[in-house]
Amino acid sequence: MSRILSAVAWPYANGPRHIGHVAGFGVPSDVFSRYQRMVGNDVLMVSGSDEHGTPILIAADEAGVTPQQLADTNHRLIVEDFLALGLSYDLYTRTTTRNHHRVVQEMFTGVWENGYFVEQTTTGAISPSTGRTLPDRYIEGTCPICEYDGARGDQCDNCGNQLDPADLIDPRSKINGETPQFVETQHFFLDLPALAEALGEWLDEREASGTWRPNVIRFSQNILKEIRPRAITRDIDWGIAVPLDGWRENPAKRLYVWFDAVIGYLSASIEWARRSGDPEAWRAWWNPAPDGQGEARSYYFMGKDNITFHAQIWPAELLAYDGLGSRGGTTHDLGRLCLPTEVVSSEFLTMEGRKFSSSKRVVIYVRDMLERYQPDAFRYFVAAAGPENNDADFTWAEFVQRTNSELVAGWGNLVNRTATLIAKNFGEVPAAGELAAADSAVLDLVVTAFDTVGDHIARNRMRLAIQEAMRTVGEVNRYVSDSEPWKIKDDPERLATVLHVMAQCVADLNVVLSPFLPFSANAVDRVLGGAGDVQPMPRLEEVEDLDGGAAYPVITGDYSTTRAWRRHPVVPGTPVEKPSPVFRKLDSAVVEEELSRLEG
Ligand SMILES: [Zn+2]
Repeated sequence: MSRILSAVAWPYANGPRHIGHVAGFGVPSDVFSRYQRMVGNDVLMVSGSDEHGTPILIAADEAGVTPQQLADTNHRLIVEDFLALGLSYDLYTRTTTRNHHRVVQEMFTGVWENGYFVEQTTTGAISPSTGRTLPDRYIEGTCPICEYDGARGDQCDNCGNQLDPADLIDPRSKINGETPQFVETQHFFLDLPALAEALGEWLDEREASGTWRPNVIRFSQNILKEIRPRAITRDIDWGIAVPLDGWRENPAKRLYVWFDAVIGYLSASIEWARRSGDPEAWRAWWNPAPDGQGEARSYYFMGKDNITFHAQIWPAELLAYDGLGSRGGTTHDLGRLCLPTEVVSSEFLTMEGRKFSSSKRVVIYVRDMLERYQPDAFRYFVAAAGPENNDADFTWAEFVQRTNSELVAGWGNLVNRTATLIAKNFGEVPAAGELAAADSAVLDLVVTAFDTVGDHIARNRMRLAIQEAMRTVGEVNRYVSDSEPWKIKDDPERLATVLHVMAQCVADLNVVLSPFLPFSANAVDRVLGGAGDVQPMPRLEEVEDLDGGAAYPVITGDYSTTRAWRRHPVVPGTPVEKPSPVFRKLDSAVVEEELSRLEG
């Protein structure tokens, strides 16, 4: 048994999440975690809502609520959506908990004491009429590079360049149009160049392991070449206070949202441990094993726009906290913290050939998807056609086609005719008589799927894994067609044998497909007379803040009864009734309906 940390990207809580947000990290990390539990590993799967930063402030202003109220609303929506999608977090929490604030401040203090922050004077903007700081995104003007008139203070959306508000030509406040006043302001920068050598060594070692996706390791090594100090504080009044005298009391200085969000993996693990009754339990996934043996492996799941944060910023924070850069230093209270074993980054999902855009209504929200379609139909699409190694396109036509021809006509049909024939002829799983060559062959073939499919999932090759599983489904369907059990009239022993073999193949493939299709795995199990407990499901829990803050909903669950990843012999005599279909066939009119919703 080994320990596995599944560290899943933290969705930003400025609005509801669309399917593009969850295709890259949500479903793949859940498939991986469910599989790892099935093979007996001790998995800790954590994430939460990322709730600080300027976009939340802007969205709250637009909605006429406080940033905390906006985060509360969106956090709850995201929790409900992820639950409906069956994402099996041990803890899905949020960054506005007091626990998270405390852990972030501990990390800041450790890095500061080791000398990896440099203080620099930069230019900041204030509103002359209110005297308040104007965050970069509240300033717009003309881009000094491309002369686009609507450039934001932090970035030009036309040419894509990162900007400094002081660079803008004719800068103005987006709030009231006045010209901001630029003043000198102090900020802390993370001294990334002092950590570059240690980061490079870690990346070289990771490259040698050969397990990272080639584009991810290449990107990570490239960004190391242009490494420079990065501001980790901000002139903003929404976020985590800087835990230093003279800063702590200043309401306009906060830690930059990216500095705090990546610490969420650690703080969520600590929160999980505190809630489990063993406050130190998180250490088994984070600190090196004392004897160097059995160290936990950590897998970070995200979209490609977040590689920098997971392959550079977060490991740099960990190295700096432990004093492992060129400035030296010591370890602190949290002890030596392990760097990521693997950064599992996916590419982008587009929709009907276009970028997702809520404002242009090129979008389908997770909630709408799950209200209208089965969660496993969506999970299947993501696993089979998602943006694993290349950008991928979601089209309604392909969604309907894959659901109907692969899930319904392939796997669903095999389940359905197996149970129908057993119910009609025996009413219970029959015992097998003597096996013919074809029976043994198909049983042997199906049992190899545990190895081949499992190997692909362990390497995060979800598309290959599900292809292989569905290829095996096709082989079993062929066995059924060749054996023609519906034509066996006068040989009850032969009929019993074929139906027994079919039941065993369905039971095996149901285990193999269950990390991808957890809801239907339980339904298929019930069809074959089981208790429907192949894959335990997450639950929503309303919890008190551990340190006296406001209560909030989390996702958690007990996954200890997950079925093991191997053949479980079917038991003759188990009652089987006439089934109703597990998968819903979609009408072809769905495509037109959904496309008209997009344009409406
Ligand atoms: Zn520009």
